[in-house]
Amino acid sequence: MSTDTPIREQSFKNALTQLETIKDKSPFYARKFADINLSDIHSRGDFQNLPLTTKDDLRAAYPLGLSAVSPSDIVRIHSSSGTTGVPVIIPYTAQDVHDWAVMFARCYQMAGITRDDRIHITPGYGLWTAGIGFQLGAELLGAMAIPMGPGNTDKQLQMMIDIGSTVLGATSSYALLLAETIASRGLGERISLRKGVIGSERWGERMRARIAKELGVELHDIYGLTEIYGPGIGINCEAQTAMHCWDDYLYLEIIDPNTGRVVPDGTSGELVLTTLVKQGAPLIRYRTHDLTRIVPGPCPCGSPYTRIETLIGRSDDMVKVKGVNIFPAHIEEALAVTPEASSEYQVMIDHLEGRDTMTVFFETSAPLEHRPYIELALGQAIRDKLSLSVIPKAVNLGDLPRSEKKSKRIFDNRY
Ligand code: ZN
Repeated sequence: MSTDTPIREQSFKNALTQLETIKDKSPFYARKFADINLSDIHSRGDFQNLPLTTKDDLRAAYPLGLSAVSPSDIVRIHSSSGTTGVPVIIPYTAQDVHDWAVMFARCYQMAGITRDDRIHITPGYGLWTAGIGFQLGAELLGAMAIPMGPGNTDKQLQMMIDIGSTVLGATSSYALLLAETIASRGLGERISLRKGVIGSERWGERMRARIAKELGVELHDIYGLTEIYGPGIGINCEAQTAMHCWDDYLYLEIIDPNTGRVVPDGTSGELVLTTLVKQGAPLIRYRTHDLTRIVPGPCPCGSPYTRIETLIGRSDDMVKVKGVNIFPAHIEEALAVTPEASSEYQVMIDHLEGRDTMTVFFETSAPLEHRPYIELALGQAIRDKLSLSVIPKAVNLGDLPRSEKKSKRIFDNRY
């Protein structure tokens, strides 16, 4: 089914090797795979029949039930956001922390960032993995880390100017906020940024183009999730086509989110990751809910690492309206072909008078008298793409909320 590169072949072998000892090391997997004889797993087909590990499994292991090492070997914990109840705690050994730094430093190198760079880090520090991942990689690379954390835009810009930050690490929405502030205050000339390393939130082409233009930087998408180290497990290269993932640390599969079956390379689906050397909390076939596809064939940049396409959404972000599956990416693509529409939007789905309605709020700087035409154009673009009628509503630039964390764009008010 797949044309395997040597690195993926080796990655799969390492995944199999790990199965030999996983039950001895991990009480979590000893229980999960209790009825499976792992020594029977030899082929891809066998492996694909192993049950998937879900976020609910991880929650059920709260607080330290995922640990596969002695408690004294855990040097740090991180936690993924517990917006839906019990958080997930991931324990790290010293080796895990080092491996993460190696991967993140590799990301910086792939983006053309060197030890001469000054890396301005705006993602948050704390239980979640964002800020500290950027920091670990910067320090291992030998660059200067500027650990700002989020918030206080005035102070961010002052430090950026005074220290001469050359790389911005941020979420896409915070990068946009900074870019807009720099533009509105006319500070562009005093900013020395040359690269942006932007967290793996999925974002549209128009937003990307705006941030790149306002900041005057080349942008790189960095991929990762707290359950699997954190940000830094993949990044797009100079060819900008897709994100290389470090498959000497991870084994990648793409599944159909509905059936759970592995799909061929090139087909879109949900990314499933198996850690290969993680000690604190090894994960076998973990469902990321990130929708992407494996990009087949060699990359023009020459890197042998497997590529995944920029995320097209999350399988749990998908909403169904009038029988149509809608992802944030669909709205972004429609905005990108609508003249005078900005990249910022918010979708409200309601159930009114017995039917579902979808209202798409979007920002524009166009004068009031132009707006009905822009709304018509956006409505048409969405109809062309999804065969779905929506209610487009233009609002002023800056009217929709900006966030330092990941922005929620689609609000389903039907239930
Ligand atoms: Zn490449």
